[in-house]
Amino acid sequence: MKEGIHPNYYQTTVTCNCGNTFVTGSTKKEIHVEVCSKCHSFYTGQQKSAAARGRIDKFNRKYGIEAK
Ligand SMILES: [Zn+2]
Repeated sequence: MKEGIHPNYYQTTVTCNCGNTFVTGSTKKEIHVEVCSKCHSFYTGQQKSAAARGRIDKFNRKYGIEAK
């Protein structure tokens, strides 16, 4: 790599809204993100459990059970 033609590449600490931090490479010194692999529903499976709750509600409605 020639000097001066590439932006500086840092070991960047990425800070997430959930409090998780991890290190990556970037041209920025610090990065703040709203979701990361620790808290994103795709990784945590929250989406799945939300869908399961929806099915339970449906079941309860079908059999006349009031959800509290
Ligand atoms: Zn996060």
